[in-house]
Amino acid sequence: MTETIPLPAHQWPQLEPGWVWLCGAGPGDPGLLTLHAANALRQADVVIYDALVQEQILSWAPQAEHIYAGKRGGKPSAKQRDISLHLVELARAGKKVLRLKGGDPFVFGRGGEEAQTLVQHGVPIRIIPGISAGIGGLAYAGIPVTHRDVNQSVTFVTGHDQSGNTPGSLDWDSISKGSQVLVIYMGMKHIAQIAAKLIAAGRSLSEPVAVVTTATTDAQRVLETTLGTIVDDIAQSGLEPPAIICVGQSVLMRQVLDWQGMIAGHAPRNLDPLGRGRPAESA
Ligand code: SAH
Repeated sequence: MTETIPLPAHQWPQLEPGWVWLCGAGPGDPGLLTLHAANALRQADVVIYDALVQEQILSWAPQAEHIYAGKRGGKPSAKQRDISLHLVELARAGKKVLRLKGGDPFVFGRGGEEAQTLVQHGVPIRIIPGISAGIGGLAYAGIPVTHRDVNQSVTFVTGHDQSGNTPGSLDWDSISKGSQVLVIYMGMKHIAQIAAKLIAAGRSLSEPVAVVTTATTDAQRVLETTLGTIVDDIAQSGLEPPAIICVGQSVLMRQVLDWQGMIAGHAPRNLDPLGRGRPAESA
């Protein structure tokens, strides 16, 4: 397969030998790549990619060597250093290097660390943002990450720290009180503790929660549950990571906005899930 992806006319940047572009691949659906990502895929000599990057996306760089640098779930960060140094080596060997990461490279993706190491070693970089799973993945589940009737803030939070434990450094009490909607990355392993902390901080047992796994891919699954029942429901559903867990009333909007369900022929379950009587009209 030697097809190249067509790009609309534009002054696209050139990926030069010795450079590393750190690029987000989006949450899964190849259609969620940016045009800058497509431009990078066409030019790279080497693509170093993570576990969450879809095969099809790699097939759009048929000329390039593909190197897997996957790491899943709280493995020691020593390996992260190896990946960063490998990027330095490839750049120094005069390669056009594309570092492709799931979602957005700077959202819980250690892109900052890789970029810093590159700069420290004098390697020139470009950053290409991507659609983060916590936004795009929820959108594919029909959940708006902000919704005027629900939240004026949203908190993105990681369910583990570098050691693989629930982040002890996080003040769950403040997080819980400070934001109507929480979007939890890497939360599956410690969901029991996280839910308990949120409930202890005053969130209701009946608070809606959605768990969206392998979001935006053909294998996407969505579990709608509540803080009080999430642990049992996840166990019963057999859902596996990667998952985005969304806590808050915006989850109810899925009842009217499950657009994938509608494409599949299902009627919306509830045209007014927040009970507003009619859609807000003012601008
Ligand atoms: N940089 C990525 C996040 C990397 S951390 C981004 O911006 O999306 C890895 C975590 O992201 C996973 O454990 C999961 O919580 C989430 N994630 C990434 N892709 C996902 C997907 N397709 N579906 C659900 N969760 C996803």
